Amino acid sequence: MPGFELFGDAERKEVKDVLDSGVLMRYGFDGLRKGQWKAKDLETEIEKRFAVQHAQLLSSGTAAVSMALAASGVGAGDEVIMPCFTFVASFEAILMLGATPVVVDIDDTLTLDIDAVKTSISPKTKAIMPVHMCGSMANLDALKTICKNHDLLLIEDACQAIGGTYKGQALGTIGDLGCFSFDFVKTVTSGEGGAVVTNNTQYAKHLDHFSDHGHDHIGNDRGAETHPFLGYNFRISELNAAVGLAQFRRIDEFIALQKKHYKIIRDALEPLDGVTFRSVPEGGEESCAFLNFFLEDLETAREVSKMFKANGLDVCFHYYDNNWHYIRKWDHLKMKKSLYPLSSEIQTGLDALKEKNFTKSDYYIGRNLSCLVKLSWSKAEVEQRAKAMVDCIQSVYANR
Ligand SMILES: *Cc1c(COP(=O)(O)O)cnc(C)c1O
Repeated sequence: MPGFELFGDAERKEVKDVLDSGVLMRYGFDGLRKGQWKAKDLETEIEKRFAVQHAQLLSSGTAAVSMALAASGVGAGDEVIMPCFTFVASFEAILMLGATPVVVDIDDTLTLDIDAVKTSISPKTKAIMPVHMCGSMANLDALKTICKNHDLLLIEDACQAIGGTYKGQALGTIGDLGCFSFDFVKTVTSGEGGAVVTNNTQYAKHLDHFSDHGHDHIGNDRGAETHPFLGYNFRISELNAAVGLAQFRRIDEFIALQKKHYKIIRDALEPLDGVTFRSVPEGGEESCAFLNFFLEDLETAREVSKMFKANGLDVCFHYYDNNWHYIRKWDHLKMKKSLYPLSSEIQTGLDALKEKNFTKSDYYIGRNLSCLVKLSWSKAEVEQRAKAMVDCIQSVYANR
């Protein structure tokens, strides 16, 4: 996944353009900037590549999720349905707006379980936020239908799935709004950065203004601009945008490498007894940022994970025991460890979360190993790795 593995001359050239002009900010300074508009150029490239009307670059993927919610009017008292397997950014982004995260089960897609979503809808629900974890998606047609029937927003977190598609459409462009991250370990990186894409002109305008203190960006005197509504600062810098621009232009190369490496490992694991793969909704095509598979039970997954580590097979994660991505280890959330007072609605929501049962998700995450697919591996390295993985899995099963 990480684009930084292939950081090179193209990235350096774009950054040099910005350093040569000396204008590190994405707005204004038209006379000084010698025609360099890296953030704007990257937005245009994202719009073209993903066939979407508007892209707004932001300072991070977390900011992207938060701004997508804000731009579509989600805030205090509203509930947002999100999966229990995701990056912590999902609930951070919701909480930042004073909205309440409603955390629900996942299924064998490793994304939102459709029945769990249905039973979690309340009169306060405002949005459903599927997270396309590890390069693959939720059943988006089913979620679209639910959203339509209940008048809810569909906000895709495609931060880990850039380049994946669903029924021919780019992930991130299927819901009302979609979010990408360009942080340092993502498929396309700008060092730090993110983007929201949408076909809704009103949301696009909100994103543009809100992420820059509410500035309306009319005219060329920044100081004289009006502020139709409140905003914050979640701007990306031109230096970060420059790196992102060079990386984004390489997206086809990156995705092709991910797919090639993924296939070599998958083909090696496919024949093994006791190994099954995450299911991908019909019409979906993974970005192949990760290869996810299930072993027969939790103990086997733990053993294989241990064996992988002992044999130098890095970047394979057993999220059940990992403290970042799964509800089991989100004690700071469940214990409401906030630096500042939380609203009573959020507190009630988090108290309910502490008691909530995630047996169904435990069943999937407990048996799952998730292996990052690197871009920098040589073909021989991937083949060697695939073979080592097979050996580890077979030896664990043989010794049970
Ligand atoms: C990386 C990530 C984010 C947040 O992105 P940052 O740019 O690191 O803030 C959000 N959601 C998911 C699923 C991610 O993987």
